[in-house]
Amino acid sequence: MRDDEFSMGRATADDGRIRVLHITGTGRSGSTLLARLLGSVPGVFAAGEVRFLWERGLAAGGRCGCRLAVRECPVWAAVIERLGPAADPEQAAAFHDRLRVVLRLRRAGRWLRRRPLPLSAVERTVADGLLPAYRSIQDVTSAELIVDSSKLPNYAAVLDTIPQIDLYVLHLLRDPRAAAWSWMRGSASGAVEGYDEEMDRLSSAKSSILWAVWNGLTARRFECRPERYLRVRYEDVMTSPREAAEQIARWVGLDPASLPFVDDHEALLVDGHVVAGNPNRMGAGSVQFTLDRRWEDAMRGRDRATVTAITAPLMRRFGYLRKSA
Ligand SMILES: [Zn+2]
Repeated sequence: MRDDEFSMGRATADDGRIRVLHITGTGRSGSTLLARLLGSVPGVFAAGEVRFLWERGLAAGGRCGCRLAVRECPVWAAVIERLGPAADPEQAAAFHDRLRVVLRLRRAGRWLRRRPLPLSAVERTVADGLLPAYRSIQDVTSAELIVDSSKLPNYAAVLDTIPQIDLYVLHLLRDPRAAAWSWMRGSASGAVEGYDEEMDRLSSAKSSILWAVWNGLTARRFECRPERYLRVRYEDVMTSPREAAEQIARWVGLDPASLPFVDDHEALLVDGHVVAGNPNRMGAGSVQFTLDRRWEDAMRGRDRATVTAITAPLMRRFGYLRKSA
């Protein structure tokens, strides 16, 4: 990395903690694009889905957003060097297994209570293992803010137990009918991981239940701290990207004028070092924000009705159904 690349960075929050913005959402909701947009602001490092660093990045030898293998990317190689033996493929795979246990869906309720329970031994081990990664990322990039698009609310809740991390939770929502349509069609990108890693397609009923559980629990766990929790809708990000991004920037303490927009709908993204995540994490240049509305014509009425029946209370709450509907 060039020495001047993060020269604007303050390295840490004013109190010395590591500032992390976690994008929480249910997949296929524009999180990778939003992370890259924020990562194009000087002093912000878009790290990607950090929860997959140990598995895809270290154990499986995956690629960085800069197209190099993670271990050969100058940024991640420097991070890995600081992690020492914990970055060895075998140890990384073992750590990922512990992380996966902690993040199991059936344990989610435990993490997403308003008053979290004391950590178990394995949860403490995982939290202790995550901190050095964020500290190393911050040391290497000198970023004033790390954007982590790991997406899972229970992962955000784990980060929230680490006193040295100053956590901001950006809750990214998408209309559950659009999300269900996307999940029913399946995808090669593995975007449903975190729900059920065995599955790459979900029925409208199953995706709706997961949408309701994750989004309901995310709001329940974090919305009591509005200075650290912001809810934005994919539809608003895609139709008014500049306005939405400026709101996010102000909330997290960035200068809205530093966002890389060339007009209200177009931004210039830098070629970053996003690890894991959607294939669209690669490549620099101009990006037009457009709302994908294909589901509105293509989705069967029966599937729509299923989604609405399951998610209606939260759809109303998040503005996807009129209150009277
Ligand atoms: Zn890279």
